[in-house]
Amino acid sequence: MPIKFFEIFEEKLEELKKNYLYRSINDIDSKTTMEIIIDGKKFINFASNDYLGLSQHPVVKQAAIEAIKIFGVGAGASRLLSGGTIIHKKLEELLCEFKNTQSSLILNSGYTANTSLIPSIAQENDIIFSDELNHASIIDGCRLSKAEKIIYKHCELEDLQKLLKNSNCKGKKIIITDTVFSMDGDIAPIKELYELCKNEEALLYLDDAHGTGVLGDGFGALRHFKLNPDESIIQMGTFSKALGAFGAFVCSSSTLINWFINSARGFIFSTALPPSIVASAYASLKIIKEDKSLIKKLWQNTLQVKEIINNLELKTTNTQTPIIPILFEDIESAKNASKLLQDFYIYAPLIRPPTVKTPRIRLTVTAAHTLEDIERLKEALKNLQGQIGMGIKI
Ligand code: PLP
Repeated sequence: MPIKFFEIFEEKLEELKKNYLYRSINDIDSKTTMEIIIDGKKFINFASNDYLGLSQHPVVKQAAIEAIKIFGVGAGASRLLSGGTIIHKKLEELLCEFKNTQSSLILNSGYTANTSLIPSIAQENDIIFSDELNHASIIDGCRLSKAEKIIYKHCELEDLQKLLKNSNCKGKKIIITDTVFSMDGDIAPIKELYELCKNEEALLYLDDAHGTGVLGDGFGALRHFKLNPDESIIQMGTFSKALGAFGAFVCSSSTLINWFINSARGFIFSTALPPSIVASAYASLKIIKEDKSLIKKLWQNTLQVKEIINNLELKTTNTQTPIIPILFEDIESAKNASKLLQDFYIYAPLIRPPTVKTPRIRLTVTAAHTLEDIERLKEALKNLQGQIGMGIKI
């Protein structure tokens, strides 16, 4: 019996390998800003969501060290028992100021946030309208909820309008979207979605994981679209990307936050984030709020890399952010391209189905990339372009 058990999964793994879908982990030996060392070899990291380089910022690192000195390492319990600290509270107060909302709540990761908050607001008789390219954590959150789920075509307002009109909803309508789509780098039409929500008396749930610290002078997607938060908007975001830390948050009205405290299972039944991580997220948020130089550098670097991609006529998406994918016809070509970039010491692994439909190398630009890093990327991409047609298809 145990032998059969192994055979089943070995066969499944073999199948994945045959179809170039097998994933493996590349752990890093050490890291300084965007330079990483893997198996003793130095690479420039173009595969990180640390958009502002804050994971290496001395103030952010020191904040974690000081918090460990005072509170120790682990939180030791959930927030509703004894796991919360004054630092958790201070971060939630700062988040309210930052996102201009009545209330906020820290959650343990973006994945936990979406899989806990969505089932907590979307219940029987409700309908969720979800963009087809929403992040996997949103998809899983929708699956866990008892509401009906309707998927609309990526960023297509007409399709969404039609689906809303044809739906027979006895409860609440909830529209859920990533603000910045993590694999394509495009931005959802938040202004129009907000207006639609007003007309339909629907709730708008925004996953601002890649918008926070990047869009709207760092404040996120709502500021980017010059929209003010109100009671019909739920803003979720993460500390794990531009804030260079770990964890997530939700900002909304006091009523909704109190509801989450009383119903979101990933909040109630999980140990609180370690105070050191919370202290780092607090330090990062303060930097983003007060110092715009990193955001300026991020966008300068982004424009430079976009220009390189355009000049080389590499196939990309309708990206409007530092997430810049290069699209390939098949997985093998994308894999060869990623290897070729590695020969130039550029680290940008391929992203394959089922994460995305079209295989790609997802380049992410950060404020911590230097001119030399971008020059090296340019050389590597020139070489890649030279190889197109010779085994590499785009
Ligand atoms: N939402 C989006 C849009 C993401 O890209 C991610 C990260 O991969 C998550 C949620 C999950 O966030 P975390 O990595 O903090 O779990």
